[in-house]
Amino acid sequence: MVSMDTLAIKTENKFRSLITKQAYKRGELICEIPTEKVVNKANRFTVQIGRDKHTDVGKLAALNHSCDPNVILDTEHLRMYACRDIERGEELSFFYPSTEWEMDAPFICLCGASNCIHVVAGARFLPLSTLENHYLNGHIREMMIELLNSTELHLTRLQSVDL
Ligand SMILES: [Zn+2]
Repeated sequence: MVSMDTLAIKTENKFRSLITKQAYKRGELICEIPTEKVVNKANRFTVQIGRDKHTDVGKLAALNHSCDPNVILDTEHLRMYACRDIERGEELSFFYPSTEWEMDAPFICLCGASNCIHVVAGARFLPLSTLENHYLNGHIREMMIELLNSTELHLTRLQSVDL
């Protein structure tokens, strides 16, 4: 297991963030995602890794959301990678809807990125045009396709109602 010793939790005005103590190159492995404790419901310490699977990520729960993130969480291989070059001392962040379908505690994003999604509530609340600009995990893609298919079916049914 790649250790998390390079990561530190910083608390400022009760606001937690995860800082890296070393620099990373784009594409570099940072650490593995812990899976010792998997639960079937999301909470503020979990990351979604499957339809009904949420893993307690320990220290990684201090990762904040960003609409312009510097790490990705690959829930298939259970690894966290740098998605751009990261400097020592930089805060690490990922795009929450890349793992979360429907979040337990939605919030308003103030990241300031030009592509900011503003309401962070999970992938199911985002348009496809926004999602396709981000790295998405397999379970999110699957649930998105399912939602689209059932919407289409619903629309077909509405059209076939004889007025
Ligand atoms: Zn944002």
